[in-house]
Amino acid sequence: MEEDYPRTLIEFEKRFSTETGCTDYLINLRWPEGFRCPNCGADTSWRTARAQFHCTQCETQTTITAGTIFHRTRKPLSLWFRAMWHITGQKYGANALGLQRVLNLGSYNTAWQWLHKLRRAMVRPGRDRLSGVLEVDETYVGGKKAGKRGRGAAGKALVGIAVEDKGYEGIGRIRLWHLEDASGDKLTQFIQGIAQPGSTIRTDDWPGYNRLSESGLNHTVLPSHDLKLAHLVVSLLKRWILGTYQGSVKPSHLVYYLDEFTFRFNRRTSASRGKLFYRLVQQAMMVDPAPVSSLKGVALPFLEGADNTNLDPIDDNQDHKI
Ligand SMILES: [Zn+2]
Repeated sequence: MEEDYPRTLIEFEKRFSTETGCTDYLINLRWPEGFRCPNCGADTSWRTARAQFHCTQCETQTTITAGTIFHRTRKPLSLWFRAMWHITGQKYGANALGLQRVLNLGSYNTAWQWLHKLRRAMVRPGRDRLSGVLEVDETYVGGKKAGKRGRGAAGKALVGIAVEDKGYEGIGRIRLWHLEDASGDKLTQFIQGIAQPGSTIRTDDWPGYNRLSESGLNHTVLPSHDLKLAHLVVSLLKRWILGTYQGSVKPSHLVYYLDEFTFRFNRRTSASRGKLFYRLVQQAMMVDPAPVSSLKGVALPFLEGADNTNLDPIDDNQDHKI
């Protein structure tokens, strides 16, 4: 399917200021070949008055947003589209306060939840694995003191980094992973999860990497200072966390931030904001719905210049309101 996205703000406003415009866009993304019943696979349906698809074979009714992050939203889709347009336009990452202002949302909490849902959508389920030659390293982020490898450090989180080396073309895609520790178990699991079998993995001589050659991967050990691509990504990641989150990242939020960084980094050459927007909507249609219950246990985010105690607490029933 040809990639269909707005090129300018005017185009965006023209297409997505109505619910019909947004719904039609989602329908084309989800069923480019036309309706498919998620229950029985039939391709014939009629539209109900509430814009649901009624399968003529099994009588199941489906909404276009079922099973996506827009599932059961009470807010108009046009507002979600605005949120996605805003987020893809923020070069250094979006924050909940900015989103709340732009959407004119009454509740900071809603903005925060939307941002987290959309960050989750930034990583495509079942996405391709990295392949070819990869550099892999780990680093600590957050906190003030330097961490000791393999032993952990208070207030810091360990992040695994994998970077494709494309030779003369430079850096390819990256993957970031929140690691529990730098043990052989965790590192091997991380690398097996992101690398195509047969890939060549370059690491330093940390013993945690010793089992890679047993798992269908080629392993090359280099002096640490030769892992230049991985180190470059680490420094960009740290600068980004400092600039966007003032260096303060709660470990429970880290995966979302890593997803956002990965999304932006891997699309750094898509010059067009519209293209980023297209990818985000596309991926938002593919993920499981993220009910607020799955975001619970996640403390409210650090907010620059604001007093967190004034924020609405997360309410169990919030999911029904947003
Ligand atoms: Zn059906």
